[in-house]
Amino acid sequence: MGALTLHDVDVRGKTVLMRVDFNVPLDNGTVADDTRIRAALPSIRFLLERGARLILASHLGRPKGKVVPELRMDPVAQRLSNLLGMSVVKVDEVVGPEIPEALSTLGPGSCLLLENLRFHPGEEKNDDDFARSLAQYADIYVNDAFGVSHRAHASVAAVTRYLQPAVAGFLLQKEIEVVTSLLEQPARPFTAVIGGAKVSDKIGVLESLLRRVDRLLIGGGMANTFLRAQGHSMGRSLVEEDKLDLARRLLDLAERQQVELLLPEDLVAAAEISEQAEAVVVEVAEGLADTHMALDIGPKTRKRYAQSVSSSALVVWNGPMGVFEVSKFAGGTKAVAEALAAADAFSVVGGGDSAAAINSLGFAEKVGHISTGGGAFLEMLEGKLLPGIAHLTQQ
Ligand code: ADP
Ligand code: MG
Repeated sequence: MGALTLHDVDVRGKTVLMRVDFNVPLDNGTVADDTRIRAALPSIRFLLERGARLILASHLGRPKGKVVPELRMDPVAQRLSNLLGMSVVKVDEVVGPEIPEALSTLGPGSCLLLENLRFHPGEEKNDDDFARSLAQYADIYVNDAFGVSHRAHASVAAVTRYLQPAVAGFLLQKEIEVVTSLLEQPARPFTAVIGGAKVSDKIGVLESLLRRVDRLLIGGGMANTFLRAQGHSMGRSLVEEDKLDLARRLLDLAERQQVELLLPEDLVAAAEISEQAEAVVVEVAEGLADTHMALDIGPKTRKRYAQSVSSSALVVWNGPMGVFEVSKFAGGTKAVAEALAAADAFSVVGGGDSAAAINSLGFAEKVGHISTGGGAFLEMLEGKLLPGIAHLTQQ
């Protein structure tokens, strides 16, 4: 990669502004899942151990440019203090006089957490003045917030105009390395498993992957649109009628690129999405009844997809194979996750729901890399240069 990293800068005695992704789920005013906080610990510890004074900044939820009391960062500061075993100073402002005051008593190897960045309207507008205010007390900028690196927001993009060197933290560095190696020198056979709700969410990714992979396995709601485009009856399934031409175009592209594109041959269908629903297995060739929706891939498809995953050297997975939130329709997602966990292949999982599925099934340790990014992961897979990476100081 071209960007400088934490290893390239001398941080001793310096004040470091680090953008992190502490956008964690809250429950009753406490952190319900601290995965994202833990993910930033290696960079945080590295800086603190080397005697930097650390200003941490993150957004939390969607306060839309104003103060929303329930979205204050205090529970995050609390959890971070516990994880680090030292007290983290929390200031109640994003910019303002409280910050220099707190900094005046902050010693080397200590850290401070700013208030929710998105309380300030300048953050999402990528506002220059706001970025300058954020930058003013620091000597070095670190981006370790991969999950927001596809957003041109002030703390990710504009800030680098006022604060250099701007370097990648360890989390960001790993994400860049994994996706770059996957795009530039993939081990083969290289297989992509793509699912999730809609084709329209992932057009760019599908096009990009069709130019790089040996096999593309499609599942989830988006498979319905492809199957409909091939003329199958899909009943009341989620089908994007306005994307049928696109689906045909992607099928053509697969053929031209000699990519083996697999679609479900059987499906689990039901008349409603609930645990009480009566689920039936339907052959795609026979079509779905008008009353039914396709909600998961069927047993034959699971077996075929699992075999395909097992015989690959590299697998990238985004998007569940069915409505996995309802356990009755989670079998396909589970089968693919199991195959991924058992395979010799290096596997990369990205996407909010896919990562959640892998985690909840307990396979996190068995895959090569779980991306902390949803949208950012997909955009990087498309081959796009993300704003949070593009403006980092180059080597
Ligand atoms: P990710 O966050 O991993 O990128 P997506 O957000 O694209 O994944 O897709 C996840 C959503 O897709 C889930 O909420 C799931 O219920 C939905 N989904 C999967 N299969 C179907 C289907 N057959 N019909 C309707 N929705 C589906
Ligand atoms: Mg999602």
